[in-house]
Amino acid sequence: MGILDIVPAGVVVGDDLRKLFEYAREHKFAIPAINCTSTSTINAALEAARDIKSPIIIQFSNGGAAYIAGKGLSNKNQEASVIGAVAGAQYVRAVAKAYGIPVVIHSDHCAKKLLPWFDGMIAADEEYFKANGVPLFSSHMLDLSEESKEENIEICLKYLKRMAPMGCLLEMEIGITGGEEDGVNNEDVDNAALYTQPEDIWEIYEAFSKVTDLFSIAAAFGNVHGVYAPGNVRLHPELLGDHQAHVAKKLGNGEQTKPVFFVFHGGSGSTEQDIATAVSNGVVKMNVDTDTQWAYWIGLKNYYEDKKEYLQTQVGNPEGPSKPNKKYYDPRVFIREAEKTMIKRVQQACKDLGNVDRL
Ligand SMILES: [Zn+2]
Repeated sequence: MGILDIVPAGVVVGDDLRKLFEYAREHKFAIPAINCTSTSTINAALEAARDIKSPIIIQFSNGGAAYIAGKGLSNKNQEASVIGAVAGAQYVRAVAKAYGIPVVIHSDHCAKKLLPWFDGMIAADEEYFKANGVPLFSSHMLDLSEESKEENIEICLKYLKRMAPMGCLLEMEIGITGGEEDGVNNEDVDNAALYTQPEDIWEIYEAFSKVTDLFSIAAAFGNVHGVYAPGNVRLHPELLGDHQAHVAKKLGNGEQTKPVFFVFHGGSGSTEQDIATAVSNGVVKMNVDTDTQWAYWIGLKNYYEDKKEYLQTQVGNPEGPSKPNKKYYDPRVFIREAEKTMIKRVQQACKDLGNVDRL
């Protein structure tokens, strides 16, 4: 039985989203969440997944969403980020079904200071729900990992109670996912903050599951944001297995040995083995951003280098001084080259996660 026997093609929310993640967890694969900043990158992600018969997650970051609305718009009070995320989600809703695959629309990291962005997207979900019976987005991510655990859980619960009745999933983060900007010393593997404890996972699971089962957890297991030289990232994805066992034991019903939906943040540059271990321990979603950005760029770079002599003037190239170059500098031509290399990289991410031939 494939995914399309369980959920329909197009944007999935609510029960269908839970079924999709359950299917992934059961069959030990994860779905990549591709950060998109334009219709071009959205289309590349959708095309990539369609051509290898797999579901995909389209994800908008706060900055990516503002970019969709336009760099010329003010982002005072998160206005551009709200407008851009909503416009991006509406665009995905308009085209997703035509690609014939299940698509999840998700918003990425939202820290406490960005909550007006979150509020704006939830308001759009509620408005869409009133008219259509489903939320605009499939899911949202709230990152309050910099706050105390108590505050993190409290604010998440507040939003969870608004999102659950619409069938909108909440992804939360606990523990610190290190990053370049945080100045984390990745060799300090004993830093307990980089590794979420099983008790914390249970505390979240217990509190959230009283409201809904539509939630996922990004736990810290030594992950870092951005790309690091090989060997600098010391992941311990086996810890996720310990978390699952702890929650299953607490639940004590013997039904589900992996009750938690885990999400993998900061996975760029991790080994195949680490990814496989994470996925076998219930990771159903992995964020992909840095590597697809590079892939998008490299396609354009190669195109320019290959066609350089046709891209210096509007008229005139090695074939003659009056030969037009329009077909070389048409954005549909050079942007397409960026899309082609991004498509390949998205498909690579899918392969790494076992997200191939799943329909
Ligand atoms: Zn994160």
